[in-house]
Amino acid sequence: MHIEKQISNYYDMLLKRNAGEPEFHQALSEVLDSLKIVLNKDPHYADYGLVERLCEPERQLIFRVPWTDDRGNVCVNRGFRVQFNSALGPYKGGLRFHPSVNLGIIKFLGFEQIFKNSLTGLPIGGGKGGSDFDPKGKSDAEIMRFCQSFMTELHRYIGEYQDVPAGDIGVGGREIGYLFGQFRRLENRHESGVLTGKGLSWGGSLVRTEATGYGLVYLTAEMMKTHGESFDGAKVIVSGSGNVAIYAAEKVQQLGGTVVAMSDSAGYVETPNGVDIELLKDVKEVRRERISVYAQEAGVKYDEGGNIWATPADVALPCATQNELDVDAARLLAENGVRYVAEGANMPCTAEAVHYFVGSQLNFAPGKAANAGGVATSALEMQQNASRDSWSFDYTDKRLHEIMSNIFKNIDRTAREYDMEGDYVAGANIAGFKKVADAMLAQGVV
Ligand code: NDP
Repeated sequence: MHIEKQISNYYDMLLKRNAGEPEFHQALSEVLDSLKIVLNKDPHYADYGLVERLCEPERQLIFRVPWTDDRGNVCVNRGFRVQFNSALGPYKGGLRFHPSVNLGIIKFLGFEQIFKNSLTGLPIGGGKGGSDFDPKGKSDAEIMRFCQSFMTELHRYIGEYQDVPAGDIGVGGREIGYLFGQFRRLENRHESGVLTGKGLSWGGSLVRTEATGYGLVYLTAEMMKTHGESFDGAKVIVSGSGNVAIYAAEKVQQLGGTVVAMSDSAGYVETPNGVDIELLKDVKEVRRERISVYAQEAGVKYDEGGNIWATPADVALPCATQNELDVDAARLLAENGVRYVAEGANMPCTAEAVHYFVGSQLNFAPGKAANAGGVATSALEMQQNASRDSWSFDYTDKRLHEIMSNIFKNIDRTAREYDMEGDYVAGANIAGFKKVADAMLAQGVV
């Protein structure tokens, strides 16, 4: 059968099988589009049901998470872990605690994770998990009870050689601590390699906190270098103000750029003279306050419900959440002079926005490649755990930097190899796919 037709049949089947999961459809559609190019050149990748197997998670876990709030009320949330693909190594991917979480969102994230993890060059498979639990406004004790209940179910399915969760939206160092404590109690074993993003004194790695944001900037800098440009003197929009956004902003400014706007889900701040990173960390990481509090204390303008993408800049780094940047925003960015866009968040640009970027003069790096620094450093944390070692900040940062440079070279080279120079979406999908596909073909129909 003709490749186009074959892929279109797969996609129709996948829509039926995964009804009501638009984010997963969006992620599937983008990857399948790139696969047409590979399958036309290398048809053996369609053998042994490879594409169907790749698009079906190896295992999907859904479980009840009952917990008691501070007033004694029993609350019930839903927990998820999607173990998508373990051909390259144990499942690896974060846990997201956010009220918007559902199975389709976890599947889209787990699917993307397969290719991202493959691009890091490290031996990790793809998975993702989380819960529709909303950590906002919860006390520390409530967060702890929720994490303990979540782990009481999850612990049966994870392990150093099996599945290694980490943080994501709503899951940072505090949550990883409570989750690890409960795992250790239930298993009666200090298995440091079971979770990443741990505290430094109990198996964590230096640079893990900074890794996604720093890695994003390292990869973007490589992309800028191909056009003789750098962050020095560049104006940069960074959306969000969570873990990824904070450390992306820090690295941009260390490299001589100015972060001109940041946001949260309620509004954005205009920072024409740059962001005071220490104040931002204190507001967001220590006091867990809103970005409006930063604006008040820094004496900068806060625009509630405003459009961060209307800010004139050279570079845009969307670092908040999926589909936060649509095609209107994409056009606005281009009109206002933005020349580089790199995704810090997972799938922050809608499919139309991605199409627009890829078809324009603008340079666009997809999240699979651009935000892989977090999971890469998680894999470095696993290496340190396995060898009972802990590396210095500079050494770990150097490893991260090398990994991000290699990812850029790989996606750039792959795009050229398939006559799609500058299309880093195709480059990332194809390079990520081929490594996993080769492993799956070698391991037979499982
Ligand atoms: P955090 O929870 O630390 O921060 C998320 C930020 O995004 C917050 O500022 C939050 O604002 C904002 N946000 C969330 N939802 C929306 C929305 N609907 N509209 C606008 N802003 C929103 O998460 P992370 O920084 O860890 O993750 C951000 C993104 O990066 C996610 O897509 C995640 O999957 C991805 N990622 C994270 C990695 C990591 O290592 N942490 C690794 C790779 C990817 P508010 O507080 O108002 O909700």
